Amino acid sequence: MSYDRDVFDEALARLREKHDMGVLIVNERRALLREANPRFGEIEAELRRTSSELFAALRAEKSAEAFNAAMEKNKALRAEREKLLTDAGLDKGYINDIYACDKCRDEYYVDGKMCSCLKNEISLVAYERLNASSPLKPTSFDDFDLAYYSDKIDETLEESPRERMTYVLNFVKRYASGISSRRDSLLFTGGTGLGKTHLSLAVAKEAIDAGLGVIYDSVPSLMMKLDNERFGRGGEGFAEAVCSCDLLILDDLGAEHNTASSRTFLYTIINSRIMSALPTIISTNLSLGELSERYGDAVYSRLTGDYTPVFFCGSDIRMKKKMGIK
Ligand SMILES: [Zn+2]
Repeated sequence: MSYDRDVFDEALARLREKHDMGVLIVNERRALLREANPRFGEIEAELRRTSSELFAALRAEKSAEAFNAAMEKNKALRAEREKLLTDAGLDKGYINDIYACDKCRDEYYVDGKMCSCLKNEISLVAYERLNASSPLKPTSFDDFDLAYYSDKIDETLEESPRERMTYVLNFVKRYASGISSRRDSLLFTGGTGLGKTHLSLAVAKEAIDAGLGVIYDSVPSLMMKLDNERFGRGGEGFAEAVCSCDLLILDDLGAEHNTASSRTFLYTIINSRIMSALPTIISTNLSLGELSERYGDAVYSRLTGDYTPVFFCGSDIRMKKKMGIK
C-alpha cells in the first residue's frame, strides 16, 4: 500500500488520540480510588517499589531468593488491590490499561505487519480527503441513474445512449470489483455532465474500501500542486505519491493551462505508472483527435495504446438533474 504521507500521519495521530483517551480514563479511575480509599494509593506506591526491586534483582543477577521474595510481595499486593476493587463492587480489571485496539494493544503493528486498526483509519482519512477534493458527494455505482440517458436510438451510435451507458456502467463496475489486482488503466472520454466523475469516484470508493491508497485530483489542481512542489512552495512528496499510489484518478484532462511543463508532468506521470503497472483513470472532455493535437504523439500513443478508452454519451445529466428532467 502506498499513500500520501499526510494521510498516514493523520491516521496515526487520530489513533494515538484515542489511545490517550484510554490512558486518561484509567488515570482518572485511579485518582478516584485513591481518594475513596487511601490504602489503594499505598498499594500502588508499594507496587512501584516492588517492581523496581524486581528489576534490580534481575539486573544484578541476585540470588533467586531475592527475586522470588519480590515476586511474592508483588503478587500479594496485586491480590489485595483486586480485593479492594471487588469489595467496592467494581470489576477486577477496572484499572487495567484500556486499548482502542485489543488486537495490537495500540502498537499499530502486529508481527511487523500493519494492524487492521491503522489500515481502517488510513482508509477513513483517505476517503474524507477524497470527498473534500472532489466536486461531488460520495458516489457509488448504485446511485448511477441510467434513467437520465435517453432510450432513443442514436443514428451515429446505432444504439441508444441508455444502452451504451448500461454497457459502460457494467464495464466500470467489473473493473472496480477487481481493483486490488488491476494493472490496466481507463480513459473516460465524453462531454461534460455525462457521469465520468461519478463513475471515477465510485471506483475510488471501492478501492479505498479494499484498503488501497487512492489519489483523486483534477488535472488543473494537480498541475498547481506539482508546480508548488517544483518551486519549493510546499507539497513535498506529492509528485512521488502521484506516481506511486495504488490508484490515481485524474479528472478533467484538458482543463489545465497548456504549458510545456504541464505536458512534461503529464507524460512523466502516465509513463511512470505504466512502467510500474499501476492503474490510473483519466477523464477528459476532449476527443481523441483533440488529445493528439494538444499533447503530441508520446502522450497520445500511451493514452490510446495502454489505456482502455471508455466512451460516455448522452446529454448533460447534471443539467437534467438540476431541472428535474429524466
Ligand atoms: Zn490495532
